Order: sequence, then C-alpha cells, then structure tokens
Amino acid sequence: MSLKVILPNGMENDKTNETKIAELEKNHQAMLNILEDLKENERKDEIIFNSIPDAVFAVDEKMTIVFANQTALDLFAITRTDTLAKNINDICVFYRRETKIAEKDSPLKKAIAGKKTISLTINDDLYIRGQGESFIPIACTASFVANNPHIRAVMVLRDITKEREIDTSQNELISLASHQLRTPLTAVKWNSEMLLAGDAGAISEEQKACLNDIHESNKRMIELVNALLNVSRVDLGTLIVEPEEMSLKDLSDSVVTDLTGIIKAKNLTVKKTVSQKVSKYQGDKKILTVIFQNLISNAVKYTPKDGTVKITIEQKAKGELVSGQTLQQESLVVTVSDNGYGIPEKDKDKIFTKLYRAGNVREIDDAGNGLGLYLVKSMIERVGGTVWFSSAEGKGTTFCAALPAKGMIKRGGHVKTESK
Ligand code: ADP
Repeated sequence: MSLKVILPNGMENDKTNETKIAELEKNHQAMLNILEDLKENERKDEIIFNSIPDAVFAVDEKMTIVFANQTALDLFAITRTDTLAKNINDICVFYRRETKIAEKDSPLKKAIAGKKTISLTINDDLYIRGQGESFIPIACTASFVANNPHIRAVMVLRDITKEREIDTSQNELISLASHQLRTPLTAVKWNSEMLLAGDAGAISEEQKACLNDIHESNKRMIELVNALLNVSRVDLGTLIVEPEEMSLKDLSDSVVTDLTGIIKAKNLTVKKTVSQKVSKYQGDKKILTVIFQNLISNAVKYTPKDGTVKITIEQKAKGELVSGQTLQQESLVVTVSDNGYGIPEKDKDKIFTKLYRAGNVREIDDAGNGLGLYLVKSMIERVGGTVWFSSAEGKGTTFCAALPAKGMIKRGGHVKTESK
C-alpha cells in the first residue's frame, strides 16, 4: 500500500521533503506490518483459546465478562453476544449438590477477595445448571490476575460428568463391600465380647490380653467400615434424614461416656454446658451421633495430656455472631473446643476434604482416616445446618455446628446412617 502525501505549494522540488516522504511511507508500511502481526497473533490466541476443551472466562473488576472461549459458550449454550457486558454471575451460577452457592461464595469472588487461586475438585461437589435445567458436575479453578487494568480474574471450568460417573460406581462398590464386611466384623465383636466375659469358660491373663487386642482392632475396623458406608451414602445422595424427638444433652453425655477410657488415660478435663432451652430436639439421632462422635473424639484425640475439652450447646438467634460467624437462622449451636495441638494455617482450607489429615497430628495419631470431618460437614449441610472452626496451632481448636432450631426436615433415600 502506498501513502499519498499532499505537499504545500512550492515544496515539490525540495529534496529534503522527498526524503521525508520516503521515510513516512516506510514508517507507515512498518506500522501496517505491526498491525497485521498483531491481528495474526490475536487470531492465533483465538484459535488456541477456542481449541481448549475447558471453558475459560476472564472477568474485570466488576465481574463483567471480558472474554469467553468457545467451550464456555457451548457449556452454557449461549452465543458470544449473550456474554457482552454481562456479569459472570448472570451466566454462571454454582450449586453445591442442589443448593445454590451465594455470589459472595463463588470461586471467582473468593479468588479476587483473597488475591489467590481457588481450585475445586470432584470432592467439592460443584455443579452448574446446563441446558434443560440439568445439573452438570464441574471442576473449577479461579485465579486472581494482578497488575492488569482489564482482567481481574480468570476462571477455568471442566465438565467432569465422566469422572463423576466413575466416582459413583466406586462409591457403589464401597457401599456393597462395607455392607458385606459388617456381618463378619459384628460376629468377631460379639464372640470376642463373650470370650472376654468368660461365657465360654475361664481365660488366662495372657489370653485376655490377646482377646482385648482382637476386640480393639475389630472395633477400629467397624468404625472404618461404618465411616466408609456413611461416606458412600453421602456421596451417592442416599442418606436419609429421619427426625425424632431426642435430647442433645443425652447424646453428648453418651458420646463422652464412650470416650471415658482415653479421657482418663490422658487425664483430660471435660466441661459440659447445655442450656435448658435445648432439652428436646427434633433431629436424626444417627446423623447427630456421627457429628457428635467425630467432633468430640477429635477434640479428645488431638489434645495432649492434662488438657481441657469444653462442650456447649445453646440456642442462638438469627443474625447473632458466634465464633466469627453470623447465624443465617435461629440455631442450636454445638461448640466443641479444646486447648490441644490446633490446625496449622496451611491445612485449614482442606480440613473438611475427604481423607485429609493435617501434618502436625499424623505422627501423634496414626489411627485416623480423615473421613470424620468430611462426614460432619456433608451431614450438617444435608440437614440444613453449617459447621465452621477457628484454630491456632499449639493453642487449640474450636468447632461450631449450627443446627436449625426448628428441627430437621425428613428427607428420603433408602438407607440409614451407621454410627461408630
Ligand atoms: P481423623 O481425625 O480421622 O484424622 P477427621 O476428618 O475427623 O479425620 O479430621 C481431619 C483432620 O482435621 C485431622 O486429621 C486433624 O488434622 C484435623 N483436626 C480435626 N479436629 C481437630 C482438633 N480438634 N484439633 C486439631 N486438629 C484437628
């Protein structure tokens, strides 16, 4: 392309001007080449982004979509024009199972607020609504982008329908295997108890020690099998909720009684405060047993000798601030606090994840399986409550479980919960 330059009168024969014109034309050509290169790069970027099998969104400060690749458009069945000047929350709504996640808790919001990367995997039970209102299981990474005036965060979504199907069949297998294991384990339990009680004749001290070992190991196996069974129910969505009138105080008393052996061995002080108002509760006893057993046994396990464990159960109004959390509904708050090992800062994000155990306690206690808190959180959320904690390494931990004060609502399914 050539540049036509109109010169003022009397300049036609000026050699310096001719040189200038030539230079201008050269510069102009160079600029056109750069523009062409830029366009080419843009086209390349577009091809690359559109060939990525994961959905990619970029948003600005106000969460307005500034980029969406073709997979993102396909995933939400929208066109490029649909995304123009749209807020990401108008297009992408997340669900944890079937419960909508509030905008403030969306992965992008959290990534921006924390100036970090948030990664959610199959274990986080994240879903979006696809075409025809169906739920699509999703893995998601949202990353904060620093030092860019146009892009504040980038989010990558992956449809994990296949992985979810495999996970479901694995859960079904675990459920089946655990069911089958329970019968022989129960037989070992009864028979070892009978032998220990001398029902089959007198036993020597040596035999008694062996039988105690068998009984204890078998007890741990039963606990693991029950935990696995409950995890498979939670994951398969087959956990039923059957509320009945019960006493939270009696439940916490019986859980503490079951732990008497270890409490005494460690010389722990257990303090219980139960407000009169919560004497009767409409709750699923089996679900609550799992919650109480895990929270209280963790406090006992992860507190060294001579420590203190405090259990309180009180009624709290909607909007009240409890241990840094504002209650969203009138609740019965179960608080279990200890002055034990605490949870290291770097482990706090993952503590409710299935099989996760913090490094500081793994050496102290090798019997844990990392399923307890996953179950506690899943079950509390299933019955309409919430759980949270605060902890300082070396100082102690406080777990709070808020249960709906109005009681639990019956929910279907076809299998019940196993307590430890
Ligand atoms: P487990 O106790 O079998 O390891 P959980 O799922 O109940 O599994 O707990 C997961 C992890 O959370 C524990 O391994 C431990 O690292 C941490 N944890 C839970 N409760 C406490 C507590 N009260 N004090 C310190 N760490 C705790």
